[in-house]
Amino acid sequence: MRNLSLLYLLIFSTLATGQIVQPDCFVFEKLTDGVYAAIARPDGGSVSNAGIVDLGGQVLIFDTGLSQAGTRELIAAAKELTGHDIAFVANSHYHKDHTWGNQLFGQGTIIISSEYTRRAILENRPKDDATELAALVQQRLAKLDSSLRMETDKKAREETLWNIGYYRGLAASYPDLRIVAPTMTFSHELILNGETRTARLLFYGHASTPGDIFLYLPEDKILFTGDIVMNGMHPFLSESSPQNWLKIIKKMQQLPVDRVLPGHGPLCDDGCLTRMADYLQGLLQSAQRCLDENRSVEELKSQGVPPPFDGWYYNAIYESSFKFVHQVLQASGGSN
Ligand SMILES: [Zn+2]
Repeated sequence: MRNLSLLYLLIFSTLATGQIVQPDCFVFEKLTDGVYAAIARPDGGSVSNAGIVDLGGQVLIFDTGLSQAGTRELIAAAKELTGHDIAFVANSHYHKDHTWGNQLFGQGTIIISSEYTRRAILENRPKDDATELAALVQQRLAKLDSSLRMETDKKAREETLWNIGYYRGLAASYPDLRIVAPTMTFSHELILNGETRTARLLFYGHASTPGDIFLYLPEDKILFTGDIVMNGMHPFLSESSPQNWLKIIKKMQQLPVDRVLPGHGPLCDDGCLTRMADYLQGLLQSAQRCLDENRSVEELKSQGVPPPFDGWYYNAIYESSFKFVHQVLQASGGSN
């Protein structure tokens, strides 16, 4: 039963209870008793993954997704699967694909993050005009739908589906969006001691953003990483501290871990920590070489994305990340 996709279980329970819990936005997977991964579907609109953890009578949700439809699905699945109320929500960082579902949790739910994330959620309230945004999104979706019809390459089709999911999630959520910031913040570690398990929320410092926290379940050896770890998709580095991020992953690797739910991409084991460390290390080394040999960033661009990362989604991000890391190293005196 360990790896059973809960899709079928949820459909079955729908029939049994009459509740509509059939997932469109996530695929739910049981990791162990009381712990579930909600893995975002490419065109489902939630964009990022989420976690459901039964602490024993109280439930913790890790990340709330972009689309409110997805968050409703997450809440329904959590109640169906655990039979308990959602006591806690944690936001791994402030980006909308991890926080826009916050408004759907009741007043009795405590929302937790780092202090930076709470501030960034409040300071980055979207200010777009809803009508203008809707028109822009419809234009983008029309283009994406037509490129999906023309595209034959499997990877390019999947990327297009992810983009469609993002814009659909944005369009569906924006008109009713109410920004809800975390109500509890912590600096290093917050331990939730439930009746049946312990959940450690940890902040190791500036990684993909200055405020990324992650969730570790020590008894289960399960890690929910937020965007500190991506699996099969290039991360955005523009708000990162690449050197510190690498150190944080190395520190994470000291935790005994069997299963990892990355912020984006499929479930994995601790191998995806190694890959993410290799990814950042590779970028730092290439940018350093570029500086040492006095070669231009443009010159190195022609070399493209190194394997195995050329198989990841959104190769176009790599180039801007490379330029960013190069700038960071240059600004810090050219040494990492
Ligand atoms: Zn994300």
